[in-house]
Amino acid sequence: MARPMTIPTLRASEHLHDVRYEIRGALARRAEQLERAGHEIVKLNIGNPGAFGFRMPESMRVAIVQNLHQADPYSHQKGIFAAREAVVMQQQDRGVMDVSADDVFIGNGVSELIMLAMRALLNPGDEVLVPSPDYPLWTASVVIHGARAVHYPCRPERGFVPDPAEVESLVSDRTRAIVVINPNNPTGAVYPRAALEALAGIAERRNLVLCADEIYDEMLYDGAEFVPAATLTKRALCLTFAGLSKVYRACGLRVGWLVFSGEREHARDYLQAVDLLASLRLCSNVPGQFAVQTALGGHQSILDLTRPGGRLHATRAAVLEAVGRSRWLSVVPPRGAMYAFIRVHAERLPGGVAGFDDQAFALDLLERKHVLVAPGSSFNVPYRDHFRITLLPDRIAARRVRGRLNVGRGRQPALPAGADTASIRSRASSDQRAVSSSTRITFTARPASRCSRLQHRCAKSIRYIVAHMQTTGDRKRIVCSGWFRSSRLTRCSSVPMAHVVPAAACST
Ligand code: PLP
Repeated sequence: MARPMTIPTLRASEHLHDVRYEIRGALARRAEQLERAGHEIVKLNIGNPGAFGFRMPESMRVAIVQNLHQADPYSHQKGIFAAREAVVMQQQDRGVMDVSADDVFIGNGVSELIMLAMRALLNPGDEVLVPSPDYPLWTASVVIHGARAVHYPCRPERGFVPDPAEVESLVSDRTRAIVVINPNNPTGAVYPRAALEALAGIAERRNLVLCADEIYDEMLYDGAEFVPAATLTKRALCLTFAGLSKVYRACGLRVGWLVFSGEREHARDYLQAVDLLASLRLCSNVPGQFAVQTALGGHQSILDLTRPGGRLHATRAAVLEAVGRSRWLSVVPPRGAMYAFIRVHAERLPGGVAGFDDQAFALDLLERKHVLVAPGSSFNVPYRDHFRITLLPDRIAARRVRGRLNVGRGRQPALPAGADTASIRSRASSDQRAVSSSTRITFTARPASRCSRLQHRCAKSIRYIVAHMQTTGDRKRIVCSGWFRSSRLTRCSSVPMAHVVPAAACST
């Protein structure tokens, strides 16, 4: 009898070995499993405005519909003229005078354009200076082309603004480019003019390409000033990336743009390579391109969301208030974008803690409360004590979270399995429940007090997170067995502890 032929394992390309995008990685896959099992997951891990009820301005939708009849053919590889010209006008308004429609490429989101720009630039062994933390596509787009992402630190102590001297010290003879994400994801930092001038100066002195990811360019809070990098570069090539996904709440359209400015004469070969790659993919989504001109002209509705009284402003304020009152959490107030990058001070937890692990923390949050956050280590940082949440939740999403948080009303939630990371991970797959040597802390509730519904709803996830601070040191685990009945988010941080019950007393 013929032996059945074994089919050899199909291996992925080696180029992908070190490529990571954990925001949609293992945790997100686990969230999908839970969803398939019927659970509702509140996804605070991704900056997806539409998922939280934000809509693109109606005029953009009308522009697409009105032009659908001419959206069947491929467009020029750089995009339709009207869209590119609108981007040029925006640049001119900002003081970038030396660009024309020829210098603009419309792409399927900034994501496609980042990949394309890096593919046209990099050879194996080249280096690119990338911020840490970064939006991880930047690191991935470098690594995937056999180049090395050299991370320059943006430290919380400096408001997550990089130290230009430190950045310059990392330049080598293989360095090709500096990436600047401003306003920043995940930290919300908005770089001061002086820092940007210094970074642009490095690009000019060291003949580097300056890549400015400005997708959050108009999402600013409390008077923060956005300085476009292109206004600061004359003798270096500057690549400005922006698009419709965030400021215009239209990420599903997949429309972004890349503008070349500054010195271009020396970069002809590179610019032709970008054009070649754009041609190879023919063009970007055409219907969406028709929204660009409308989006960039007239009243900018993002201002209504980010000014005092606006939804993003209120959510941000609520998160800051909640974190500010916590003994265990801290955050550098985001001055732009739509995230809070929150630090967990595990050492301040009762009993002191060693080895707080952001991934285990996020997994536990997901498993037990079906709230998904992005662990800080997903953003290419060496530390593991941060997590990122979006500032996007709306009333409905918040209500859902709130429902989950009411676990303390008369019921004791089951303790998760073992106290260490490994056992938490294994629980994710086996879903078994067992109690290890743990300490359970019950929090008392405070009466509801006045607070705006907006603050209130935004705070739910933060309250939950505070309540589930956990430790993994010394085989001890601290969990919350109750939920704060207070509608005042800020009470959660003062965490009055009613009693501490030995784990044995509450094992399930
Ligand atoms: N750059 C940054 C800093 C981002 O945060 C994101 C998305 O979250 C992107 C680029 C990708 O944007 P797009 O939807 O245009 O591909």
